[in-house]
Parts: sequence; structure tokens; C-alpha cells
Amino acid sequence: MHETSVLVIGAGPVGLSMALELGLRGQEVLVLEAGDGTVDHPRAGGLSIRTMEFCRRWGILDEVRGCGFPEDYPLDIVFSTGLQGYELVRERYPALGEMPVPPESPERRQRCPQMWFDPILARAVSHQDSVTLRYHTRVDEVIENSDGGVVVRCTDTRTGEESLVRARFAVACDGATSRVRSALGIDMSGVPLLNYSVGVFFRSPDLLDVSGQDPAARFIFVSPDGPVGNLTVVDGRDLWRFTYMVGDSRPNVSELDVEATMRRVLGEKVKIEILSVAPWRRSQLVADQYRSGSVFLVGDSAHTMSPTGGFGSNTGIGEAVDLGWKLDAVLRGWGGDNLLDSYEVERRPIAVRNSSAATRNFKGWYSDADLSGLLDPDEAGARLRRAVGEELIEGTRAEWESKGVILGYRYENSPICVPDDSPAPADDYRVYEPTNRAGHRAPHAWLGDGRSTLDLYGDGFVLCDLGADADSAKEILDLATALHIPLQRAALPSSVEDLYQTRYTLVRPDGHVAWRGDTLPDQPATLLRTVTGH
Ligand SMILES: Cc1cc2nc3c(=O)[nH]c(=O)nc-3n(C[C@H](O)[C@H](O)[C@H](O)COP(=O)(O)OP(=O)(O)OC[C@H]3O[C@@H](n4cnc5c(N)ncnc54)[C@H](O)[C@@H]3O)c2cc1C
Repeated sequence: MHETSVLVIGAGPVGLSMALELGLRGQEVLVLEAGDGTVDHPRAGGLSIRTMEFCRRWGILDEVRGCGFPEDYPLDIVFSTGLQGYELVRERYPALGEMPVPPESPERRQRCPQMWFDPILARAVSHQDSVTLRYHTRVDEVIENSDGGVVVRCTDTRTGEESLVRARFAVACDGATSRVRSALGIDMSGVPLLNYSVGVFFRSPDLLDVSGQDPAARFIFVSPDGPVGNLTVVDGRDLWRFTYMVGDSRPNVSELDVEATMRRVLGEKVKIEILSVAPWRRSQLVADQYRSGSVFLVGDSAHTMSPTGGFGSNTGIGEAVDLGWKLDAVLRGWGGDNLLDSYEVERRPIAVRNSSAATRNFKGWYSDADLSGLLDPDEAGARLRRAVGEELIEGTRAEWESKGVILGYRYENSPICVPDDSPAPADDYRVYEPTNRAGHRAPHAWLGDGRSTLDLYGDGFVLCDLGADADSAKEILDLATALHIPLQRAALPSSVEDLYQTRYTLVRPDGHVAWRGDTLPDQPATLLRTVTGH
């Protein structure tokens, strides 16, 4: 029987992030993936600012930035009645190469379709000596052991050969239809059906030229009956994804005339080579439990959300980062069991929040206006189109500008964060207000040497200190050493005082604030025990 510390089930973007996070911490990991690593139907295409910050720490930034998406491709959003129909509104957004790095982060967001991102992650994972990535291996059964570990039964999908794997922990990153979640009997709550959609991944080298369109990240099509679907750029050259909505019942692919539907909004002349067709259910669901004994749900296995906003895999990657250091700490012996329980306490509310933000974005696609005259060629039709365009672009603005969702998430009520009595900044989906309040992402600020404050975080805990007297931290540092807790002091320059509003900020390995204060606690042992889950 193969034995490993952590078994990761599924090598989608989230499973690979989980494996990388653990591998970089030196943990022994086995990743089992039913497929062969090929992404036939890329779904996720946008990496958020926060995910880019993780890529920076993981050392894959250059590959992600250089993934091949053209730097000069404008990322406009267009609402229209069809590529050759009426344009309702075009909101200009800059190309990646012209996009400024936001003041709140060392990184800007990036377009990197899954067919490029997953292999970048897989390559980084394969460079980790302690991680084994095994494709063509399907997990069929997960048995929780009375000794606290798990045993899984898996099958080689090419030979049919069965084998067993024993692990101290298993992380189910097996996607929205998670077999592991079902086997554990974990239900999901929320909105099971927003609608059914069909995704069509296709090649069209002449789409923009033939339709006379300027480039855009997304074209959203509206008819007199409401939104029809959208066209999303994939590689910025000739690959696209067309998604159209089919209502409340699951479509039978063999009965769909996909190309005819596409032609209605893309026009007759555009070349279309369909590469794959995938029906999917749009829903807003979050698992009732994120943990069952030694098994954790991470990524789409724990939540589903409308793609409106591009929050799905970014949320899952955030979960992998949250859980990674906690598993590492427990396996190394300095983390207590509260650390593992805190994963659900911290991350489940974020999934509830992000999935409801995604649904709100989706609802923004629906106009309140009477659209029956939308295609009328007269002045009244033109007025209606202008008004609807304005309404839709305002109604969906939070989908394209979502810094609050991406950076402003915070871990309230976490058993491993020590709050003070300061009020939380508003949780606005569009606006991010940096703060060093416990539970929040520690703010970014540039240091004099060209590094970001975020570059200080990742390995262990960091005690950020705005004071000059290094000796004052000696007691807590010595205590941490005695308890085998990785803790370092980092002197911060006074230039960051606006963001780091207390003399001390204790930052966790995932870059979130565990505690802050102007003086160190009288009982540093209590603080260290709390933040390490004891
Ligand atoms: C149209 C669309 C557009 C989207 N755009 C974005 C976007 O721009 N940004 C974003 O963040 N998100 C986006 N998403 C969401 C994103 O695609 C998902 O959130 C993301 O793929 C989830 O990653 P995952 O690794 O959790 O699951 P998956 O990507 O589903 O991967 C699960 C993996 O587990 C494997 N597996 C399953 N069962 C087993 C088993 N029993 N044994 C072994 N392996 C198994 C599967 O083969 C698969 O490789 C979009 C989704 C859609 C539908």
C-alpha cells in the first residue's frame, strides 16, 4: 500500500495549487487525477490579483505573466444584440500591458486560460521532490481510519488495476460533482439551480475581422427576450468560448444545434471550428461542512458559483492557501487541531460571500426595461438600446471591478485570530480598504529595497515591528523557538505606518493578520498557542 502524508484528489487548478502549497512547505504529497492532465474545455480564464500574489510567492509569476495572452489585447466589455447586430454599450478596459499595477498589491490581475495555467501549476508541482503527481488514477472510495488517517481505493483508468493509498490527510479537490463529498454524506446549501448553460469552446481565426469588431474580453448578447449568452476571449488570438443559456432543464447535447445557435449571434460568415461542447448547471451552493475527520473539501467540491466575476477557482485557490500551512503545521507538530477546524470557520463564509456576489453579478445581466423594441431600427429603438446599455454596464460593474471581493475578504470569528475591538471596514464587493486588523490580508506596501511587504510572508509567522528596539521582541521569539513555531521579526519602515496602524502585526504564513497591538502581550505564550491552534 502506498503511504503519504497528504493525498490530494483531483489535479484541476485547485488540487494543483494545494499540492504546490504543500510541496513548497516540504510535505510529502500524492496527487491522484482521473484524467491525463489535458484541459479540453478551458473554463477559468482570469487570475485575480490575490491569486497573482500567490503565484508570486510560488515562484511561477514569470511563467504566468508570459503565458501567451497578448499584452496588447484590450479587455473591453461589450453588450450587444449580436456581433453584427446593435451594440448597446462598450466599456473600455485596458489591455494587460497598459493595466497599472494597483496601489493595493504588487501584482495586477492576469488572463491565463486554464489550458495554460493548469500545466504551469503541474510543472511547478513536478519540480517539488516531495510531491508525486499521478494521472489516469481515479479515486473510487475513501475510508476514514479509526487511527485518524484515511485509506482510499483507486483505479488505474487505463489498466483497470486497483490499489490502496493510506494518508494522514486527504484533500478532495475533485470538482463540483465531488464523489468524495457525496461519499462523506456532506450536503450543500444555497441555490441549486440558477439555470443550465452550454459552453462551446471553438476556434475562429477571423471572428473579429469578419464581424468588424474591436477586440474585447467579453461580448454579452441580449435579445428582446433577455440575455442570450456571451462570447469570452480565451487565448486572445483564435480561441473563444461561447456560452448560451438554455433554461431550467438539463439539455441533451445530441439534440442541440449548437452551431445554429452560435450563428444567430455571431453571424453567418465567421469561421467556426467547434472543439468541445459542455453543458453545465449554474448554481450557488456551499458544502455544509468543509471537513470530515481527516478529509477536507477544497475548491469546487466545496462550492459552486456562477462564473460571473471569475471567482470560482480563485476562491478555491484561496482555500488551498488557507489549508496548506495548517496541514503543514499539524504534520510538523507545532500546529494544534484548532488550526484544522479553523479552515471551515474561515473559508466557508468566504465561499458563501463570493458565490452570492457571483449570483448578484449574474442578475445584473437582466434588464428591468421592456426589451420588446430592442431591435427596432428607429430612434425609439436607438434610445432604448442606449438606456439598456447604460443600465447593464452599471448593473454589472461589480463583475469587472471587484477588488473588494478579491482582496477584502476577512476571517471574522476565527478561533486562531485574536481580534481587537476595532470595527471592521465595510465589506464592499467593489472597494478594498487595506487594514492590518486581525483576520484580514496583511496590506501590501513597497519596501525601500523594491520588495513588497507581502514578500516577507509565506514561510512561517512574521512579527512585523515598526519600532527600532529589536530586543523587545526577544521574549516572544525565544518562546516560539522553544515551541518549534517558525516566527521571525521583520522591521517595517515608518513609511508603511498608514497601513500597519499598530507597532506590531503578527502575520500568519498565509499572509493574513493573526493579531496586532502597540505592545506585546504580557502572556506571549497564550497568543502563540491561540494562533497556532492550541
Ligand atoms: C464558463 C466558466 C467560466 C469560468 N471562469 C472562471 C474564471 O475566469 N476564474 C475563476 O476563478 N473561475 C472560473 N470558473 C470556475 C472554475 O472553472 C472552477 O471554479 C475551477 O475549475 C474549479 O477548480 P477545481 O480544481 O476545484 O475543480 P475542477 O477544475 O473541476 O477539477 C477537478 C479535477 O478532479 C478530477 N477528478 C474528479 N473526480 C476524481 C476522482 N474520483 N479521482 C481522481 N480525480 C478526480 C477531475 O478530472 C478534474 O481534473 C469558470 C467556470 C465556468 C463554468
